[in-house]
Amino acid sequence: MQVEDKIWDVVILGGGFAGCAAAVEAASNGKTSLLIDRRPVPGWELTWAHAPMLSVGRGKLYKDLHKNLTACGGLREGRIDPAIATIVLDEILESQGVTQLLYSQPLKLLPDNDRAQAVIVGCKGGQKTIRGKTFVDATENGMFWEPEEFSASPAKRSRFSCYFHVKDNNINRATFGEAAAAQYIKQRPGVFKTSLEVSYELDNAAIGDARVALPDVLKKLRTSGDFPVDAVLTHTAPELLPISLDVLEGEPGQAHHTTENLFAAGQWLIGFSPADDVLSELSAWGSIAGQSAAELSATIPCPASASLQEVGPQSSQSCDVLVAGGGTAGALAALAASRRGARTVLIESGTSLGGITTSGGIHIYYCGIPGGLQDQLDQRVADIADLFAPADSYRGYHPEARKTALEIMLREAGAKVLYGQMLTGVLTNQKCDPVAGEESSENSITEALCSSAVGSNAWRAKVYIDSTGDGDLAALAGAETISGRDCDGLPHAYSLSSGRFEDGLMQVVNFDVGYVDATDSQDLTRARRQAMAVYRSSKFTLKNRPTYIAPLLGLRSSRQIICDYQISLSDQIEGRRFDDAIAESFGHYDSHANDYQLESDQAMFWVWVLGNWSRRLGCEIPYRSLLPRNIQGLLIACRAFGVNYDSHMMLRMQNDMQRLGEVSGIAAALSVADGCAPRDLDPLKLRSELNKSGAMLPANDEPRFTALWHQQLAALDSLPSQDNPKDLINELSGQRSSEAMLALLNCSGDSAKTALAELLSSADRSLAYRAAAILAMHNDSRAIPTLLEAIKNQLSLQRQALCKINKIVVPDWVAAIALLGRLRAREATESLIALIKSQDSSFDIVLTAVRALGRIADPDSGDALCCLLTNEKLDCHRSLQSSSGKLSAPTIDGRWQLDFLIVKALAALGIDRSNALEKYQADNRALVRSKIQELTAEIASQSLKR
Ligand SMILES: Cc1cc2nc3c(=O)[nH]c(=O)nc-3n(C[C@H](O)[C@H](O)[C@H](O)COP(=O)(O)OP(=O)(O)OC[C@H]3O[C@@H](n4cnc5c(N)ncnc54)[C@H](O)[C@@H]3O)c2cc1C
Repeated sequence: MQVEDKIWDVVILGGGFAGCAAAVEAASNGKTSLLIDRRPVPGWELTWAHAPMLSVGRGKLYKDLHKNLTACGGLREGRIDPAIATIVLDEILESQGVTQLLYSQPLKLLPDNDRAQAVIVGCKGGQKTIRGKTFVDATENGMFWEPEEFSASPAKRSRFSCYFHVKDNNINRATFGEAAAAQYIKQRPGVFKTSLEVSYELDNAAIGDARVALPDVLKKLRTSGDFPVDAVLTHTAPELLPISLDVLEGEPGQAHHTTENLFAAGQWLIGFSPADDVLSELSAWGSIAGQSAAELSATIPCPASASLQEVGPQSSQSCDVLVAGGGTAGALAALAASRRGARTVLIESGTSLGGITTSGGIHIYYCGIPGGLQDQLDQRVADIADLFAPADSYRGYHPEARKTALEIMLREAGAKVLYGQMLTGVLTNQKCDPVAGEESSENSITEALCSSAVGSNAWRAKVYIDSTGDGDLAALAGAETISGRDCDGLPHAYSLSSGRFEDGLMQVVNFDVGYVDATDSQDLTRARRQAMAVYRSSKFTLKNRPTYIAPLLGLRSSRQIICDYQISLSDQIEGRRFDDAIAESFGHYDSHANDYQLESDQAMFWVWVLGNWSRRLGCEIPYRSLLPRNIQGLLIACRAFGVNYDSHMMLRMQNDMQRLGEVSGIAAALSVADGCAPRDLDPLKLRSELNKSGAMLPANDEPRFTALWHQQLAALDSLPSQDNPKDLINELSGQRSSEAMLALLNCSGDSAKTALAELLSSADRSLAYRAAAILAMHNDSRAIPTLLEAIKNQLSLQRQALCKINKIVVPDWVAAIALLGRLRAREATESLIALIKSQDSSFDIVLTAVRALGRIADPDSGDALCCLLTNEKLDCHRSLQSSSGKLSAPTIDGRWQLDFLIVKALAALGIDRSNALEKYQADNRALVRSKIQELTAEIASQSLKR
């Protein structure tokens, strides 16, 4: 169901605890209720700001929460475990039939006489209009109740919570006075025997202030004598809990004085609540508001259809450099730019710096190349890390120490950091060269629009840096994008990591959940909730309890922006160097897909045939790959930069992104200083700055990865020359067969192919297979009989450990199927039909065969494909990768991929079976819907042409 198409009985603006209570009340009265919040979780005072107590309160939600939390072990003596509360609250909202729309900031109510008829919300992909019969203002500041009076951060006093793992929390409650800005520092036992809570209060503070105060608080605690010295700080609250704030006028259940279908709930009606009692008051107000809205919705007609309106910015400010997204790359971009004197503003939709490295819960470097500014950051993190936890209690770096170190470094550099600000729009000027025509048209950004708790505001900058991970800024500015793999449009799998304390260590629990359209807030909501469901348990114990669930969804890939240069897998395989190199890469083909038959032939060959999944390699990164084609004044510093889908698998790691952050920050500051566009900057000037920071070696030096990838390439170098393919062929059965295959693949001219063709009749059939595989990649049909023979004999060569992908060894004959598809080999039709008919064929083998049949397009396969379309017996489930082994990844249903490929294959034969895809039009996965719609439209246009 598309949220926007529907008219809701009750729309709740703001998904805090009062909003949740209102939504549950409305739903339990039989009304359709939609809960909207910009955060990725509902119930933020409880789940993000960690309100500590649940004792006596009113309303259905309060009672259900109390009962369910007690049953699963998340509530003890009135104290709540926030991670478990997050899981349980989501479960209750679902069981009550509340629909959630997260990642969405309500911006404006559209009036219809004395009622509101719709709300405009700002999302990552732009603005949406949602219609409702009644509305509840449950925002944190009464944004819709008194639009003239609400303020951005109404909290006069708030509370910050930190959590520690201790051996035994048989510890006295204690108060430690003050440290820096922190007051009333208190410790008390948590819900579990091994958890300890520390909280402190701050006046007129933002979350960044609380983090900056943390090292002093920790020093005070650790030297007090009353605090366990070996305590490990496992996590902190993502947001501050307001205790005292400005009030607006209103009564529970009362309708708004001019908008009769608007009701109020939220702490801005209450003012001061002692931290321990916040939830009871919020739930009471929320329940009453939900009840009143539900009652009115039964008596009023549906609103007329609302016209789509854009909410313009209420204010506009300017700076030199605007960085959108304060994640892995963005934080370093802002640091590098502001250190060079550029007036820099960073807007971040979440509540901390560091992105995946901190709020994403992945605090371990893997691949990539260190050096430069990131080394300085690592040092600053290390300098304070002992205050957070003993060094042997975590792997990698301490994520909370990193949040604090980044906050301090950006403040020192003079950058302005704004949290809770989602980039939701971009205004551009288009310049078109009348002589060169449309092709040369170029957009320059005039303003970036943000949605936040104060509505919509604009930033004008001399240079913009897109560090949103998803390339939101570039896409909204009109940049060309690609996303997902060609065959079925799927990006890399996403995850939702969590923390767990086990074996004396802060462990990262991380598993793939499925696929998501990261540009669509409704799909992001679905994806996050699907991942949350994996964490459900009837009983949480010391062993299985998550210490926290990562605030940031683990998005590995979404859009790639088309830049002046798009790095390819070939660049990486060849270890290519560039005149405008600003970084180097070093990684391996880390796609978590097991279905390489749906990836590009090059990727399939690299992983399945050459067995190179874990082989590390890299190339230089040209400055041009940070410059979006046809957009002026913009740099991309995040995983959305100019790489293609395959290349991204090797080039997205934390070291890589931090480097892009530093480069973009320097480039932006130099452009501002020189008064030129980033595109016109001299790359050598940039390079010399990178030499100074230690990020790059001088241009004439060998790149750093020489020691790594080039060492491996040395195996290639010592192989016989590509001019002597016959000598290379002698290596095909030896230790260096994979390298020799690669070299033979790169041989141009006919002599290599002739030599390979001679091998096809060799008595050594595995050698013949290797020769056939290379020939197939050269599109040489002489490979066909040998590949068919491999299928017939189910050839499976001895694989080296290197070839194992997630412990799954793919037999060579399966790769032979894919290669026959590449060759469009009609000779294979019969064998492939046999495979799709066989009950012994696994889902992946059937999928490989169907894709191959689709490429071969032999009319003889029509009947078998039609039959498969109605075969309900095939089990199409597969399990995804679990990186930690602590929790199993859920199994996913890939039936849609099969149906999609069959219908596509049939369309290639002129048979229209697109009706078989109708059932997916309403699929709750956005990517499935869009791929199916794309194919259906393509088939319709083909039949029109016929
Ligand atoms: C589950 C997982 C495991 C990984 N494991 C490893 C590993 O072990 N080691 C390793 O080196 N790499 C690992 N990676 C890869 C690496 O961590 C990421 O590719 C890298 O951190 C991405 O950096 P980024 O700056 O592009 O994005 P992010 O770090 O995600 O930062 C993007 C930031 O932009 C913000 N944002 C997004 N949209 C908007 C908007 N519209 N307005 C304002 N703000 C916005 C987000 O809140 C976020 O803070 C992993 C990645 C994932 C997802």
